[in-house]
Amino acid sequence: MSSDPAADLPFYYGSISRSDAEQHLKLAGMADGIFLLRQCLRSLGGYVLSVVWNLEFHHYPVDKQLNGTYCFTGGKPHCGPAELCEFYSKDADGLVCALKKPCLRSPDTVIRPGVFDSLRENMLREYVKQNWNLEGEAMEQAIISQAPQLEKLMATTAHEKMPWYHGKVTRQEGERRLYSGAQPDGKFLVRDRDESGSFALSMVYGKTVYHYQILQDKSGKYSMPEGTKFDTVWQLVQYLKMKADGLVTVLGEACVNGKNAEKTPSLPASRRTNGYTPPPQAVAAASMSVTTVPENRELLPMDCSGFNPYHNPNEVRRFNIQRSNLLIDEVELGSGNFGCVKKGVLKTESGQIDVAIKVLKNENEKLVREEMMREAEIMHQLCNPFIVRMLGLCNAENLMLVMEMASAGPLNKFLSSNKDTVTMEHIVNLMHQVSMGMKYLEEKNFVHRDLAARNILLVKQQFAKISDFGLSKALGADDNYYKSRTAGKWPLKWYAPECIHFRKFSSKSDVWSFGVTMWEAFTYGGRPYKKMKTTDVMRFIESGSRMECPTACPEQMYTLMKECWTYKHEERPDFKKVEESMRSYHYSISNKAKPEEAAATSEPIK
Ligand code: AMP
Repeated sequence: MSSDPAADLPFYYGSISRSDAEQHLKLAGMADGIFLLRQCLRSLGGYVLSVVWNLEFHHYPVDKQLNGTYCFTGGKPHCGPAELCEFYSKDADGLVCALKKPCLRSPDTVIRPGVFDSLRENMLREYVKQNWNLEGEAMEQAIISQAPQLEKLMATTAHEKMPWYHGKVTRQEGERRLYSGAQPDGKFLVRDRDESGSFALSMVYGKTVYHYQILQDKSGKYSMPEGTKFDTVWQLVQYLKMKADGLVTVLGEACVNGKNAEKTPSLPASRRTNGYTPPPQAVAAASMSVTTVPENRELLPMDCSGFNPYHNPNEVRRFNIQRSNLLIDEVELGSGNFGCVKKGVLKTESGQIDVAIKVLKNENEKLVREEMMREAEIMHQLCNPFIVRMLGLCNAENLMLVMEMASAGPLNKFLSSNKDTVTMEHIVNLMHQVSMGMKYLEEKNFVHRDLAARNILLVKQQFAKISDFGLSKALGADDNYYKSRTAGKWPLKWYAPECIHFRKFSSKSDVWSFGVTMWEAFTYGGRPYKKMKTTDVMRFIESGSRMECPTACPEQMYTLMKECWTYKHEERPDFKKVEESMRSYHYSISNKAKPEEAAATSEPIK
């Protein structure tokens, strides 16, 4: 995962030293205004701009401020390093000269990773693991889908969860805690210094406790005196474990705060109910409950118990569900081709979970029954956080398909009834999740054939899952498309030309449908092609026309939609590519500070 916003700049060299930078500039000819950008080694997330003027080198540190903007000390804030360089290429505004010519990386020069790059990634993993008890593929999916949100969380509250953080305790109490038990060199804790929000670090060395004030500069960065600056206390602590940076020794073992050690890792309620069977009324309330989340932050997908269904390796998926383990509610969630979908509760060894139950109505219709069995067969093979999971089949008074519950309903309805509150960033986040689920399907060689906003269900406002595998097919290992023998009751407005003309279905035709689904999402649940008849839609597409850009839809997102609607499937992007585009757009808008925030922190120039 690359979250370095300078990574795409051709004049960015990563973590190179000052003398390496000067070497590159020399080789490039030492013309006035030639410049390059490199990573700052002393301030996490910051850069240094190296410029030539009058055959001399000038190095300007670019700080990343807490609100996500970038600026020279005392200079104007900018949304990103690219915007900053563009600004100074037009106007010197305090530099020795305007930036004239980028010193481009040669094709064989790779961006050099810095020591902090892996530190940051490792910490992100550690944070996700500790907070959500995730591992393996589920952890990867969580990180990819929520990286910008996670980075923000880490920057603000991560240290509070750490075992070495003791909160508001006095210097004496800190010493008492460090002296209790073994006292190896480097044993440490971090505490609040006073009401001002600053921190102190207390550590043992030679059986004596030393106290250090953790400094915070004007932009909010933390450091030891004269030491490397970090965005967060946690990052500083991780760094001080590797490098003394002015301390008597590097940090060693944490002096554990009993309170924090008990708190983590926190588990969603349904995984905590081991062995205990609460009364049914308590179950309904608790089963979809979430990890304790601070009031002031939005729920992330991983806060919901359905994010990582197979955390416990002993929990084998049972295909057949016993009727006695299933409580069926009268509440109908919706209806589909072969009956209705009801709310219910499933009892499992590790607790009880809310479920949606697809009840087959007309048992006598052999075809419908077979269709439902096929859907179950497909769903049984899928395991991804962004795909509705099937929990099993129950053959009792009716044939029933038991699925995990997505209680916030279909995406199109959610968007059309929340037009005023749902932001573009929110839609991008959800559609990125859908693209991740579709990329997974593509990798597994499944075609969905009915991707549409009505078939994206929401578990919570920020958590989407692909559902309705009624038309889905598994492709053979050597096939890259499925040929339907007959044309059925098809959602033609979502279908690619090759589906309509030749009944050929592939992941590429799902990509076309993804484009239509995006259009639905960015129009807040609008109806594609409005009142046009299907035959008119076909003519419209054949003539090269495509639906227009929805009002306020970001340009990059409309460009991606149009790529999904590439007429020839050979030239259409696959989901690997679509997910990449969704991801980079999602990250770019979340990393950028909002213009008004940038303006608010603007300081007068020297
Ligand atoms: P389907 O037959 O799959 O199209 O489902 C019909 C309707 O039932 C959907 O539009 C949803 O409103 C509801 N539904 C289906 N599956 C679920 C689920 N897993 N969780 C919540 N509601 C569901």
